[in-house]
Amino acid sequence: MLKLAVIGDPIEHSFSPQVHGAALDALGVAYTYQKVRVPAGGLADFLPYARAEGIEGFNLTMPHKVDILPFLDEIDEEAQRFSSVNTVVVRDGRLCGFNTDADGYTAALRTAGHAMGGKRVLILGAGGVVRTLALKAAYEGAARIVILNRTADKAEAVCDLVRQKVPAELRADTLGMETLCAYAADCDVLIQATPLGMHGTGSDFTDFSFLDRMHPDALVSDLIYNPERTRLLQAASARGLAVQNGLGMLICQALLADRIYTGLDFKMEDLYPIVADTLRQKR
Ligand code: NAP
Repeated sequence: MLKLAVIGDPIEHSFSPQVHGAALDALGVAYTYQKVRVPAGGLADFLPYARAEGIEGFNLTMPHKVDILPFLDEIDEEAQRFSSVNTVVVRDGRLCGFNTDADGYTAALRTAGHAMGGKRVLILGAGGVVRTLALKAAYEGAARIVILNRTADKAEAVCDLVRQKVPAELRADTLGMETLCAYAADCDVLIQATPLGMHGTGSDFTDFSFLDRMHPDALVSDLIYNPERTRLLQAASARGLAVQNGLGMLICQALLADRIYTGLDFKMEDLYPIVADTLRQKR
């Protein structure tokens, strides 16, 4: 019986148990997967609990992805690149940290026939996930990365962080209709990484005319998965643009973590549709 958990704060609404459950059921692996609310600063208390409970692996969400680093015995290369860990596995009592967020996103893009390498990438938002995805876009060899954020300084800070690690063409600006229209006109992949349009936030885009500027082959990738099709994705689809929601990233980062937990070398493309279908049926 594989004993797993997800930790974070807040954690009540985490979708991780359903996603990992669907994957592990499909793989025929017996498991338990518990949600544990661990507040900021609570890792030193959680780790002895995990040991006592025999937890063999756990996923991490806000606010622990960086704070876990000093507690780890080993940090995988990808996690070192991003200075962020979303998966920990216990091997012979040693804590080994991994990051499957960025590879999960590129795997999700691949399932839809897209990639960031050589592409002009426009990112909306400059929060935690953007730090990872902007860096991944640079490592993947994106032709240009533009980050637009409500608070422009934060977008600039993400650009600086990426520049320190990878030579890449980066620009930062304020998120607004004028900048959206200007940069949408020459981008290949637009990544929406703000909570705009997310269920329960009450905030959304008020004008989608920037989509009219986009190249007909461009992809609009919204990281939100609730609702499954945000108004942004509906508006982009209506204009004939390719779209992808956040379910792809959510599933693929979980599948990559499940590979680490189980040691099974399953094919992403085999398991992805099974997990996606299971999750749709459960909604
Ligand atoms: P975060 O660290 O809290 O950052 C939120 C970002 O959104 C900030 O840049 C913030 O701008 C901006 N923002 C917030 N409210 C806004 C508004 N009303 N108008 C314009 N901009 C606004 O969050 P995160 O972890 O980066 O996550 C961002 C989004 O990605 C969330 O919707 C999250 O659900 C989604 N996500 C999805 C996955 C997945 O697997 N699909 C994984 C991770 C995240 P300021 O800097 O100005 O505050």
